[in-house]
Amino acid sequence: MTRRYPDPAAPGERVALFPGSFNPFTIGHLDILERGLAIFDRVIIVVGCNRNKPSADAENALEAIRRLTAGIPRADAMIWDGLTADASKLTGARFLLRGARSAADFEYERNMADVNAMISPGLETVILPARPSLAPLSSSMVRELSSFGYDVTQFLPSEKTSD
Ligand code: ADP
Repeated sequence: MTRRYPDPAAPGERVALFPGSFNPFTIGHLDILERGLAIFDRVIIVVGCNRNKPSADAENALEAIRRLTAGIPRADAMIWDGLTADASKLTGARFLLRGARSAADFEYERNMADVNAMISPGLETVILPARPSLAPLSSSMVRELSSFGYDVTQFLPSEKTSD
C-alpha cells in the first residue's frame, strides 16, 4: 500500500517520534502523547510493523490512532517497518518520546535510548513516568481481557479527545 508520511520538521520545529506497537492504543498512550505535546511542537506516533510480512495489526492500529487523535492539533501518525532512528532521519525529528510504567520498563527504555543515541548521534529520548493511575495499563493486558470477552472500553480513548 502507499504510505503517507507526515510533513518533515520545519527549521527549528521540535518534533518527537512516539514509537510503539499500539496494539491497541490505550489511554496510557494517550496520556504520554498529551504530555509530550506540552513539551514538543509536534508528536508523530510511529506504529511499528514487521518488514517481512504485511501487518494487519499495524494498519488497523494506525487507522484507529488517526481516528482517535483527529481532534488533537500537532499530533500525527505514521507506520514504519524500519529502525526508529531512520524514521527520525526521514521526518527530521530530533527527539523520541517513550513512557515507563515501572523500574523494569525504565531500564529497558534507557537501554533503547542509549542504543538509539549510539546509532543516531544527537537523537535524544525523553522518557516520561507513567501517570500512577495508568501505570498498570498495557496493550497486552487489554488484549488479554478482551479475549475473555471483558469490555475494555474504559481503557481506550474516546473519539472526542480534543474538547
Ligand atoms: P512497545 O511494543 O514498543 O513497548 P507499546 O505500544 O506497548 O510499544 O508502548 C509504546 C510506549 O508507550 C512505550 O514506551 C511504553 O512504555 C509506553 N506505555 C505503554 N502503556 C503505557 C501506560 N499505561 N502509561 C505510560 N506509558 C505507557
